[in-house]
Amino acid sequence: MRILRIPNRSVFALLFLFCLSSSFLYFIYVAPGLVNTYLFMMQAQGIMIRESVKTMGSQMYEQVVRSTYAKMNSSLNGTDYPDDLNDSETYLQTTTFLPEDFTYQANLMCPERLPSMKGPINVNMTEISLEEIQELFAKDPYIQIGGHWKPRDCIPRWKVAILIPFRNRHEHLPILLKHLIPMLQHQRLEFAFYVIEQAGFHPFNRAMLFNVGFMEALKDMDWDCVIFHDVDHIPENDRNYYGCGQMPRHFAAKLDKYMYLLPYDEFFGGVSGLTVEQFRKINGFPNAFWGWGGEDDDLWKRVQFAGLTVTRPGGDLGKYKSVPHHHRGEVQFLGRYALLRHSKERQKLDGLQNLKYFPNITVEALFKNITVNLTPELAPVRHY
Ligand code: UDP
Ligand code: MN
Repeated sequence: MRILRIPNRSVFALLFLFCLSSSFLYFIYVAPGLVNTYLFMMQAQGIMIRESVKTMGSQMYEQVVRSTYAKMNSSLNGTDYPDDLNDSETYLQTTTFLPEDFTYQANLMCPERLPSMKGPINVNMTEISLEEIQELFAKDPYIQIGGHWKPRDCIPRWKVAILIPFRNRHEHLPILLKHLIPMLQHQRLEFAFYVIEQAGFHPFNRAMLFNVGFMEALKDMDWDCVIFHDVDHIPENDRNYYGCGQMPRHFAAKLDKYMYLLPYDEFFGGVSGLTVEQFRKINGFPNAFWGWGGEDDDLWKRVQFAGLTVTRPGGDLGKYKSVPHHHRGEVQFLGRYALLRHSKERQKLDGLQNLKYFPNITVEALFKNITVNLTPELAPVRHY
């Protein structure tokens, strides 16, 4: 350094500044994500321990019961598949799955289980452009503008609007569409995609975007089922049926990022679905959650307060892979715990009922884009 006539002190100062800024960047970009995942995993670990204690307890209990009473028949859950399709005799006896030579009939209702639903999906996370995906699906003449498709060989059981909250995740959307479109076609559902994009500088508000998407989608047609779908969640099994039911459904039961464990019993994030009627009944999502976290827990509570319960796909059907991402410039919503304490009082005040917005709408080949600038003034809540 002496040769270059740079004093040693400056070199050290530069080095020091470099280290300081890299650790600063690390804390901004990487650490919040790590902390989130870690906290979730801690909860998941707790559940695992609780579950094994429960299993041990119930095994002992079963021994006692067995010796006194005859064993009761365990029955399969009506709409779900057992864990292992191949080695289950019960499955063969109880399934309504149709044979390979099933013939579709245009005047009959599509069944919930079809030979076209093969099971595991080959998930491919390779980055792909929206143009490429549009070209790929342009080969299918039946996909209409906005990604609207319906089966022609039977009457769709559900008309499903898929809502995707969005800001600055352009690399995720084509990957999601690439996997979802064939899956929904295999399931013979009528569907279209709504990408609700947040403009402006306020923290991201996933829940409010869903409310906006819901209102807008229903202007297009009488959807009867609405799926709330994170852009980075890729389903791993096409038998995870995206129709609705008697009760709200949590589709994303097993996420790879949480070691395929449900982080906690009340977890309702990632991908969920409600009938239009159920969603209206609970007054939609809360609008008051700005930034990461809490809005899905509030939705869970709204469902419970309305006297509903949540169902989940069984076995491996609810598995999802998540497209890895950073939380670039996104903030945790620290006020979520305070709001969650008053979920019940807020439910009737904050949701679909107090929502105002001014959308900018464009229709693309595979989805409708609804861009909105969200601010807290658009969903005022009276004090309670
Ligand atoms: N999202 C987005 N841009 C953002 C933040 C969130 O598009 O800046 C959407 C996206 O659909 C994402 C979902 O909101 O999948 C949930 O947010 P995030 O992925 O950050 O939550 P996490 O996976 O960490 O729970
Ligand atoms: Mn995510």
